[in-house]
This record gives sequence, C-alpha cells and structure tokens, in this order.
Amino acid sequence: MVRLVGVDIGAVATKVALVTDGTLTASHILPTGVDGNAAARRALRKLLETNSLTASDIAYTVSTGYGRRTYSRANRTVTEITAHGEGARRFCAEARTIIDIGGQDSKAISLSEDGGVLNFIMNDRCAAGTGRFLEVMSRALRVRVSGMGEIALQSQQPARISSTCTVFSESEVISLLTNGRDKRDIAAGLCESIAKRVSTLAKSVGVREKVVFSGGVAKNVGMVAALEKELKVKLLVPPEPQIIGAVGAAFIAGRLLGAEPKSTILGTVGEVPVRASPPDCFVRGASEPTIGRTF
Ligand code: ADP
Repeated sequence: MVRLVGVDIGAVATKVALVTDGTLTASHILPTGVDGNAAARRALRKLLETNSLTASDIAYTVSTGYGRRTYSRANRTVTEITAHGEGARRFCAEARTIIDIGGQDSKAISLSEDGGVLNFIMNDRCAAGTGRFLEVMSRALRVRVSGMGEIALQSQQPARISSTCTVFSESEVISLLTNGRDKRDIAAGLCESIAKRVSTLAKSVGVREKVVFSGGVAKNVGMVAALEKELKVKLLVPPEPQIIGAVGAAFIAGRLLGAEPKSTILGTVGEVPVRASPPDCFVRGASEPTIGRTF
C-alpha cells in the first residue's frame, strides 16, 4: 500500500489528507493557532491515530498553504495555487476555474484542459472578501459563522453593505442592527458584498466552466448562492471544500514519489461520499505558475 499525506497549513485552519493507493481515505481539520508546525504535527498525529498508522507508514508528505515552510516533516512543499489546481481537478476533471475563499485570502485560478495552471490572482492583503471578514461579522451579528449561510438564505431583502473595508463594514452592521434591521438581511448583504469582491477578482482571470468553489468559506451556503448570482454560473462545491489543497498536495506527493495512483476515486471521508473523477484527471505537467499576481 502506498500512503501519501498532504498538509495544508492555512492562516486559520490546518488540514491533512491521507491518500491510500490513489483513494482519499481520511482527513482532519483543526485550527492553526500561532504555530503552524505544531498544528500540522497535531493534525497528522490525529489522522494517524484514527487510522491505526504510524509515521513510518507514510511514503511521502507534501505541504502547502501559507505556513507550508514551517512544517519540518514534509518531504516537499508546493504553492497553494499548484495544490488547489491538483485538488480541484481530482474532484472534477473538467474544472477550468477554481475560486477559493479561505480564512485570510481569496484566489481565482484558471486551468488549461490538461490541468496546468494558466493564470491566477490572489487577494491576501485585505480581510474583506475572506473568511475573516465573515468571522468578524458573525461576532457582530451574534451568530455562529457556520450558521450564517442558512440565515442569509432566509432573507427576502438583503441589506446593502456599502463599506468595502472590514472595520467600516462592522460599524455598518452594528448600526443596521441598532436600527432594527433583520439579521437574515444583514447576513445576506454580507455574503453579497464578499461575492461582489471575489467575482471581480475571478473575472480578471476569466471565469470558464466548470467552476469549482473551494476553501472553508465554500461551506457557507449563503456565499455559494451569492457567488452564483453574481457570476451567473453554477458552482461545483466538493463535499468537504476545505481540504482541497491538502488533497491536491497528497496527490502531488504521489507524482513526486513516482507512485502514480492506481485509481483516481477519491473515496469517502466519514459519511461524506467524494465523487470519483475519470481516470485521465491526473494533472499532467502542472507547474508552478509563472503568470499571476497577488495584491
Ligand atoms: P485557511 O486555509 O486560510 O486557513 P480555510 O480554507 O481553512 O482557510 O477556511 C477558513 C474559513 O472558513 C474560516 O475563516 C471560516 O470563515 C470558514 N469556515 C470554516 N468552517 C465553516 C463552516 N462550517 N461554515 C461556514 N464557514 C466556515
């Protein structure tokens, strides 16, 4: 058995994925906190314990994400762009655009037919348009961030959030609440505000179907609806969108090790079935992107 591990150390959450003989067999997510290396070690320990494995059972480990270089036990590191490209194509072989909204950045990636990265754009300078923005606003609204999407979907009349800055938006939310505005309308307005920002970002690399929406924020159903409305496309959301980078890193580990997976079926994680991809979905020649910019 060839067991490969992908570790995605994000600014908010650390994700690990285990791929066994080409099938995603387990994953684990925990908060990153202040020490990315410690979070990655904890997440991996949990993954190994749960699957009755030890570190020596793992053939190769690739780390990615904002804190990828802090993880001392990785055999190699790859950028988030490369890892997300691979992960999204594992979920859907026909993916041409990936929109990823994480805790502290948002990015759009354009893929070629054979899965190479054509272009990307990333916002990691401003909290507006990221999961952090939603976390700050959920505190102001006194709702859980995981429940914000459902609340937003119940709105009949989304509030207009005019500020583009997180700090000013928070004041705006507090003032809307003070004026008696329904939380559901404010939550929907916040999703619309992020959707507008992220869709502008995505349009700059070109939005071609099929479009995969990944990252922790893709778990927010209000965000999915708002982004679909803004972009006028149907978004494909993986069953566990937050682990796409870790899954991509694990499959890249297979290529680096020279162990082409026998199967490309992603398998199941807990109760969640992960869709199988056609056998040709292994990303060939996906290189570190040469085009692209961050702002
Ligand atoms: P990063 O890689 O930057 O750490 P992630 O892709 O892990 O980011 O996403 C973290 C973000 O996902 C959090 O800031 C939060 O807004 C959002 N999130 C996490 N879990 C949920 C959930 N169950 N429902 C809605 N949003 C969620």
